[in-house]
Amino acid sequence: MSGLGHLAPALVAKSTMPEVPLLAFVAASETNDILYFLFSSVGLEPKAVTTVMDFNQGVKYLTPVSDPWSHGLFMSIIWAIVAAAIAFLFYRNRRISIIIGLTVFSHWILDFLMHSNLSLFFNGSPQIGLGLENSGIGFLFMTIFDILILAAGIAVYFRARKRTMRKNEIFPSQKTI
Ligand SMILES: [Zn+2]
Repeated sequence: MSGLGHLAPALVAKSTMPEVPLLAFVAASETNDILYFLFSSVGLEPKAVTTVMDFNQGVKYLTPVSDPWSHGLFMSIIWAIVAAAIAFLFYRNRRISIIIGLTVFSHWILDFLMHSNLSLFFNGSPQIGLGLENSGIGFLFMTIFDILILAAGIAVYFRARKRTMRKNEIFPSQKTI
């Protein structure tokens, strides 16, 4: 439920492994939100309705929301492990599997900065998060932070791409892209 900053870890992860499609890392970095859309559409989790979203007041929700199945800490660790296991079945490569798992978990870490309502386990368990979105200045900070890490991710991605393309020119038989 956060911004474009989630793409940054996906771009950095992709730059370390040219053999895995970028889309796989993008899906990994957005796993929690994809699950949230699935779970909220079947009624397992409530839909978050925002009433205010500006730099004066930050983000205000119509009702307090908790999404333990898609965004709880415990389930986020489980989803990261599941994604790592799927990646391992697919690629049979431990390094790829670990990077995919970490990319999935990066979503929770960024959401931890943004939100204050991430369940530790399930409904009724304590909710955690720095909650920068709850104030205007915090929300402004998160927006700038999102743009900066996305820009850094794009820079890392294109630098790695250039390096791979140069390598392909020197060793055309070992194409990795
Ligand atoms: Zn999220």
